[in-house]
Amino acid sequence: MIKENLALVQDKIQKACERAGRACDEVTLIAVSKTKPLSMIEEAMEAGMQEFGENKPQEMRDKAKLVSAPVNWHMIGSLQSNKIKYVVGTACMIHSVDSLALAAAIEKEAAKKNLLMDILLEVNMAGEESKHGFLPEEVSAAVQEAAKHPHLKIRGLMTVAPYTENAEENRIYFRKMKELLVDINAKNIDNVFMDSLSMGMSSDYEIAIEEGATMVRVGTGIFGERNYSH
Ligand SMILES: *Cc1c(COP(=O)(O)O)cnc(C)c1O
Repeated sequence: MIKENLALVQDKIQKACERAGRACDEVTLIAVSKTKPLSMIEEAMEAGMQEFGENKPQEMRDKAKLVSAPVNWHMIGSLQSNKIKYVVGTACMIHSVDSLALAAAIEKEAAKKNLLMDILLEVNMAGEESKHGFLPEEVSAAVQEAAKHPHLKIRGLMTVAPYTENAEENRIYFRKMKELLVDINAKNIDNVFMDSLSMGMSSDYEIAIEEGATMVRVGTGIFGERNYSH
């Protein structure tokens, strides 16, 4: 089942790239395995997946210890300072940096472990009350500040688009994210060149790719519905 789902998602990614005149290798598929058992991760690995997304620090760390082959873990969920230690040294990238305080705390842990941590700044493109992240108008200043940390490498921006029945409604947010990235790069901020846009989930990743996503985070479309009750 997972193998078939993956093939389907990969086919849709390829077609979206073709529609947008983009090379397929510009887009990385991240399999969001949160709440799913190790057996399903291993099944996806057998089908060739190497990039996995988790939103709980301890769950990520525990799974990372148990997988049989090296994979890349992406932290995509909101992160409290006291949990950073589980993520720095485990994740290849933290997508969900939503405050300068968090950036500073990650810097501290990365310095302690003597490594360079790839991060994305999370942007609340639609200005939703319920969402984490910088507002679009705050991002440029935040990038400038976060770029001062020597153990952080800001690779780009991430957004979680609004929940909607009609994915086309999110196109505008994806388009504006890309514009934001281009605008910030044009400012030639010291130590900053951002090439990553993490946007698009199961319901809207094709549209996100048409608008420039370089990483799409797909959970349900690969592993099926999540069950939070157990
Ligand atoms: C859970 C989650 C996803 C995947 O959502 P699906 O709709 O299951 O594809 C993507 N991004 C973030 C930040 C998530 O928390």
